[in-house]
Amino acid sequence: MLAERQAVALAGWNLVAPARSLQTAFIPETVLDETGAGKKQLLSRALFSLMISSKRILGSLLLLFSLGAHAQTDSAALQKISDDILLHGTCYDNLRTLCKTVGHRLSGSPQAEKAVLWGQQALQTAGADRVWLQPATVPKWIRGRESLKIDFGNGLQEVPVLSLGNSHGTDGKDLSGNIVMAGSVDSLKAMSPEAVKGKIVFLNYRFRQDFVNTFRGYGDAAPNRSRAANAAAALGAKAVIIRSVSTGLDDYPHTGMMRYTDSTKKIPAVAIGNQSADALEKAFISGKTPRALLRSECRMAGTAPSFNVIGEIKGSEKPDEIIVVSGHLDSWDVGEGAHDDGAGCVQAIETIRTLKALGLRPKRTIRAVLWMNEENGVRGGSAYADSAAAKGEKNIFAFESDGGGHSPRGLTFEFPEKYPQKDSTRTRLTRLAEQMAFLGLYDFSGNHAGTDLEPLLENGQTVGCGLSPDPQRYFDLHHTAADVFETVNHRELKLGAAAMAGMAWIVSQNGL
Ligand SMILES: [Zn+2]
Repeated sequence: MLAERQAVALAGWNLVAPARSLQTAFIPETVLDETGAGKKQLLSRALFSLMISSKRILGSLLLLFSLGAHAQTDSAALQKISDDILLHGTCYDNLRTLCKTVGHRLSGSPQAEKAVLWGQQALQTAGADRVWLQPATVPKWIRGRESLKIDFGNGLQEVPVLSLGNSHGTDGKDLSGNIVMAGSVDSLKAMSPEAVKGKIVFLNYRFRQDFVNTFRGYGDAAPNRSRAANAAAALGAKAVIIRSVSTGLDDYPHTGMMRYTDSTKKIPAVAIGNQSADALEKAFISGKTPRALLRSECRMAGTAPSFNVIGEIKGSEKPDEIIVVSGHLDSWDVGEGAHDDGAGCVQAIETIRTLKALGLRPKRTIRAVLWMNEENGVRGGSAYADSAAAKGEKNIFAFESDGGGHSPRGLTFEFPEKYPQKDSTRTRLTRLAEQMAFLGLYDFSGNHAGTDLEPLLENGQTVGCGLSPDPQRYFDLHHTAADVFETVNHRELKLGAAAMAGMAWIVSQNGL
């Protein structure tokens, strides 16, 4: 509603037209007609015009007043939500409990099961009208033990390492060989099989530090991680070691998803930190022939039953229109999954808590979803989309926070290909979101909402929305042992929660 009125006001500015007619009404009397009668006639005509114009001005003022009142309703609620979360929010405490009592929680692991129960309890405590578990069958990958030694030219030395997610290991046996260096997957593909066969490939692709938005850098570098093993195996390599997809200047290895194609041999794929990668690069530049000794036990172990955790507040006027707020409950099996994505989960739970605590009953249903299996399969996202389609649910707007618990800077809006009126809806959503400038939100230019939302958006009816937190530190921590609760700031986390709760609220009140 507000967006509609705002759009009218901004497009037409009704006040401008009366001002112009006032001007033309007075010109004839003073300039064009000399006779008294004519003057009288013109004067009465001018007065009539003035009355009409005044009426139009009054109308315009009333419209502006009601517009302002409407905007005030939104902004009063947004302020209440922000105050409540900053003063009484429980998302930081919830994150501590998730990180310290459950810990990391890879799909199919006992910790993921524990996280499901934790999420169910947390949504009940937050006051959701209804909480339920939605089944999803997830792939199960087990890391086991792993070690990597590299001879940089002075004998083998231990190097911090993480196998990439879904990778096969060495079955716990020693795998050793000379290392050959490639700059990227594309340059690796251009190498001759003779240069690679029987060797261990070092894929030395650097995260683009020149990109101000590190999510752009991630998008650039991550395909090298997921495709390295296939490209190396196609040339006869034994294994692949990648430079981590990391902005950090430290030596933390970053894990993450990789994929095998059916046609190539499933060779082990591991990541090393930037410092080890620098040392390895230096060894090559100085003419050495480095070699490596890898031992790892990681393997796929079938599938496991698991769940999305869902809790909702029923809408008062249009309960069938659903607004999703979400984060993913699973994490990689190192660190505590604090930023990725415990933060998103506790922000979604906070949305339910604050609306309930403030007695703000949304017109449309607001549903918090804690997704399972974002990291290595998106089976939770698919299960939700399948269920929504089977039930004929109308999910109008789906919000995910999966970019870390840092200060919010903006929102992204993603429209399915088939979505009608993309441009006008984007404009309306941006206008609504601009009311949250006081939380530090200013950038609404992005267009990728969240991985878990992708299956749902395929219905062509749902608008996706993603939280864009400050991106400068996220890829230092992402998918590492360093992604722990202590790296999250309570105010930054709460501001993100306020942005999520605020957006859900204004969409619930104004519609799309
Ligand atoms: Zn994530």
